[in-house]
Formats: sequence, structure tokens, C-alpha cells
Amino acid sequence: MEIGDWEQVEGIVFDIQRYSVHDGPGLRTNVFLKGCPLRCAWCANPESQSLQPELALSAHNCMTCGQFETPCPICWEQSDAAIRIEALGERPYVCPTGAIYWIGARHTAGEVMAEVRRDAPFYDRSGGLTLTGGEATMQPAFAEALLQLAQGEGIHTALETAGHTQWSVFERLLPHLDLLLYDLKHVDGELHRRYTGLDNALILENLRRIADLPAPKLIVRVPVIPGFNADAASLSAIAAFVLSLGRRVSEINLLPYHTLGKSKYQALGRAYPWKDQPRLTNAEMQQLAKVVSDEVAPAGLPVRIGG
Ligand code: SF4
Ligand code: SF4
Repeated sequence: MEIGDWEQVEGIVFDIQRYSVHDGPGLRTNVFLKGCPLRCAWCANPESQSLQPELALSAHNCMTCGQFETPCPICWEQSDAAIRIEALGERPYVCPTGAIYWIGARHTAGEVMAEVRRDAPFYDRSGGLTLTGGEATMQPAFAEALLQLAQGEGIHTALETAGHTQWSVFERLLPHLDLLLYDLKHVDGELHRRYTGLDNALILENLRRIADLPAPKLIVRVPVIPGFNADAASLSAIAAFVLSLGRRVSEINLLPYHTLGKSKYQALGRAYPWKDQPRLTNAEMQQLAKVVSDEVAPAGLPVRIGG
């Protein structure tokens, strides 16, 4: 395909974060693609899960503008999404405060790249584009177009993935990547299915296959979730699995559980499933990092908290 053709490929994006210092080296432009096949009970980006744009409401921003005979509700009260859209779907376009809004919109790769290029002068030698979500591999044509365009302009490319996708999708994307951030949540298939909605067989298999390839740089990221995997046995098993991949993984990042996504559930009219779990203290995180480090450090594999 020509550059002009790649630029016309369309996808659904729900956020573009500029000047980010997460999800890759240096300064990043993080593009969040909508859609994820998993349903992790602790998910901090519930607005990413559905592939379709969604209507959301942040009632604290409402100024009761008085434009409508029937006012906007102060919460969704669990009403069906289709009913809300039918009744209120036009209101985001006239809401003066942005209290009611659409999450996710259709864009061409060319439009997204125009945003990415605004950050390019600040990338220096290490920064670049990171595709995240959601699960960017659910929109393979769009992800491929963005990576292809960025690569063509000499922009560093990274992809964050939960790994649940067909191998043929990775075959399309891997040649255009400098860095792959691969999330590994649990090696126990049954626990994985219970708390994320899907078994981990495909995720483990894809990681094994990627580890057999010479590129791209591969970092394994483990969200450390109390009540799911924040214990020595679970993390030790993950460390053992990573070691079994040989020397291709360049580091393990442990991502501490946080509750920043809580208000998003309310805005979407959904219950927050992980509400009873406390956050881990720094001391607890250090202790868990030591468990992983004790296992992998002798093989020269660094462990870092954060990512
Ligand atoms: S893989 Fe990530 S985006 Fe998808 S449900 Fe899990 S936490 Fe959310
Ligand atoms: S349009 Fe916006 S400001 Fe007006 S009532 Fe609805 S949410 Fe509130």
C-alpha cells in the first residue's frame, strides 16, 4: 500500500495522551484504541472495553443548563445503554460543560498521525508512539497503518498488548515495532478465566512464539492485583514462566494496582467490580518485587516497579 492508502485506514480511538512518560522510553504519544476481548475485574480503563463509542456522564460537571424539558439524569441508574443513547445521544453536542460526552470516535490513521507529529520535536532520541487501549490488536488494520506510518517517519514505535489475539495479527504488527510491552497476568488458566473472562492459553502461546523471534525488544509487564496475583506463589510462577522463555525478555515491569478508573465506572453506569480490594503499600510492592527478583535476577533479568 502507498502512504496515502495507510493514512485512510480508519479506527476507533478514545484518547490520545501527549507528552506521556509511561508505556515506553522517553516522551511518548500514547494512542488508546477502543476494544478489548478481556474483562479484567480490576480494569482501570472500562471505557476501553467495548469496540463501539459509548455515552458517558460526569454529573459533577453538570450546571443544570436548562436546555431540555427532561433534564439529564444525575446518574445512569443502570438503565440500558441503547435506551440512554436513544434519549440523550445528541446532548453531548450541545452540553456547555462537557458533563455528558461520547467516549471513542472514528478517525483515520492520517488524522492520528497529525497529532503524533505535533509531539515529534520533543521525542529526542528515545521517545515515540505507543499504541495501547483497550487492546490495539482488536483493530489490526488500523494498528498496522499507524505503526507503518510512524516507522516510515523514523518514529520509535511501541505496542502494549494483553496478548489475546490471533498469531496472524502479531505477524502483521511485529515487523513495525521497536518495543513490545506484553502483559502477563497469571499463569493459572482457571484463575485467569475467572477474573478476566478468558483463559490464558493463547496469551502464553503467543508470548512463547514472540520470544523465539529476534525482535522487537520485549518487556513483560505484570499488573500486581490484590485478590488475584499479588502473592508470592502467583508471582513466582509468572517469574518461572518468563525464565522458561530464555534470554529474549529484557525486563519485567510490575505495575501496582490502582483505583484511578473508579469514577469511569460511574460515568458509564457500571458497578466497579474490584471495590473491596485495598491498594498495596510501597513496602508490600517492594516485598513482591523481591520475590520476582530473587527468581529472575540470577539469570540477569532486571525487575522494575512501574512502567
Ligand atoms: S486487558 Fe487491560 S484494557 Fe482489557 S479488560 Fe484487562 S485491564 Fe482492561
Ligand atoms: S446538557 Fe450538560 S449541563 Fe445541560 S443538563 Fe445536560 S449534562 Fe447538565
